[in-house]
Amino acid sequence: MKIGIIGGGFAGMTAAYELGKLGYQTVIFERMTELGGLASTFQVEPGVPLERGYHHWFTSDTHVVAQMYELGLGDRVQWIPSKTGWFEQGKIWNMVTPGDLMRLGTIPLLDRVRLGAATGYLTYLQQNKNNLPKYESITAHDWWKRHTGDNVWDKVWGPMFRGKFGARAEEVPMVWHWFKIVLRIGSRRGLNKEELGYPRGSFQVLIDALEKAIVQQGGVILKGATVKRLVVEDNTAVGLEPSEGENTRAALTRRGISPNQSGYVPFDRVYSSAPSFATLKFVHELPGDYVAKMNEAKYMGAVLLILKLKRQMTPWYWLNIADRSIPFVATIEQTNFIPPEVYNNKRIMYVSNYLDASSPYFQMSREELFEAYLPHLKKLNPDFAPDWVEEYWHFKEAAAQPVFPLHYSQKIPPFRTPIRNFYLGNTTQIYPEDRGTNYSVRLGQDITRLIDVDVKSGGWSS
Ligand SMILES: Cc1cc2nc3c(=O)[nH]c(=O)nc-3n(C[C@H](O)[C@H](O)[C@H](O)COP(=O)(O)OP(=O)(O)OC[C@H]3O[C@@H](n4cnc5c(N)ncnc54)[C@H](O)[C@@H]3O)c2cc1C
Repeated sequence: MKIGIIGGGFAGMTAAYELGKLGYQTVIFERMTELGGLASTFQVEPGVPLERGYHHWFTSDTHVVAQMYELGLGDRVQWIPSKTGWFEQGKIWNMVTPGDLMRLGTIPLLDRVRLGAATGYLTYLQQNKNNLPKYESITAHDWWKRHTGDNVWDKVWGPMFRGKFGARAEEVPMVWHWFKIVLRIGSRRGLNKEELGYPRGSFQVLIDALEKAIVQQGGVILKGATVKRLVVEDNTAVGLEPSEGENTRAALTRRGISPNQSGYVPFDRVYSSAPSFATLKFVHELPGDYVAKMNEAKYMGAVLLILKLKRQMTPWYWLNIADRSIPFVATIEQTNFIPPEVYNNKRIMYVSNYLDASSPYFQMSREELFEAYLPHLKKLNPDFAPDWVEEYWHFKEAAAQPVFPLHYSQKIPPFRTPIRNFYLGNTTQIYPEDRGTNYSVRLGQDITRLIDVDVKSGGWSS
């Protein structure tokens, strides 16, 4: 039984690994020349990998941590206290403990009390999953304004949501925030500190371990191989047609895979973990109502500038930028989380933005972005000088963060698509949790179970 998988991110790799454990033969097509998808890394120093976009785990991320242990990487799991701050009115405020919240001088005391009470109510009294329908019928913007007044949204959550959802901040359903609060505060080991996880050696150690395990099981991984078309006969997926590109051809030749006379690699089942818009580029037979569901969630893009600095910029790991005169929404100083010694004593900082792919900042070159951000970095640290920057990188990703509409539980495209033997499982089907490596691991496991059930029962009901 041969399964074709599109995408070598955590969902695709986990599906290949889990299917391999059950004895299925898998082939992964990954259009990039390396694995890891949104969590992939680059060399920030010779031999030192770093994620293109900042990455950590929350203590609630149990699926990916269990996978680390299963693959013999338990000793690489580290939990480290993290420091979150808030930049507004030329000042940085701490944002870790309930006490910090009470000291946040940017809103009046009464609003701080309202904010604390509402957060406590959500965390401790509303954690039952049965509350989901209640929170998917209202946006976070409307919920907070209704329950705590304008200031709490305008001065606290609004800037934070802009940090994650850009111009779509006010469209985000409350269910997303409710679940985030329940998971994140509810899973803290103590109210006064937050610990975040990070694998010693970066997320690359898990990517490498998954790759090794898949290959040992007899799975095939085609790096640099783009899928051009899902081949459908009689409304049944029968194979994948690779693109004619040079990289794709070379990847297939390297692994001894050649398409059949009709130009495709035959498969019994096919799973796409690619974003919905990317999947629709190679699947043309899906009916309109399913395609409409695939288009319900909108994607935000992410633009990251990564600076290698001679000196520390701020003492915070995560700094939300609430000051709207600054054209980025957060800075994440990796070396306030992982010691600078890991990076040859350099300081590493991400400057982060979530934008629509049509935004001017999304279109800018590395140099243009650097020039646009430079004057604002001095606001975070008046001593900062451009000669602190030894090197910088620029990454952008169009499908960084899905934004869901209200009542999305009724609109999510099912994993089993209307095309027989073709499955879809990407970040738009992770709900109500926030997308993340943990949930892509869970997604890969869920898709595996579904394929196995279908194969064993011979059934298909989309
Ligand atoms: C800036 C940023 C910060 C993040 N921070 C965190 C964090 O702190 N913690 C955390 O856990 N998660 C974080 N995430 C999210 C996490 O990286 C993703 O949720 C997860 O990696 C998604 O994995 P996936 O396999 O579902 O999708 P993807 O990683 O998107 O994988 C899909 C793959 O499909 C491939 N593909 C698409 N089309 C084709 C085609 N036609 N042929 C072949 N291949 C194709 C793509 O190249 C891609 O590799 C962050 C993401 C971003 C962007």
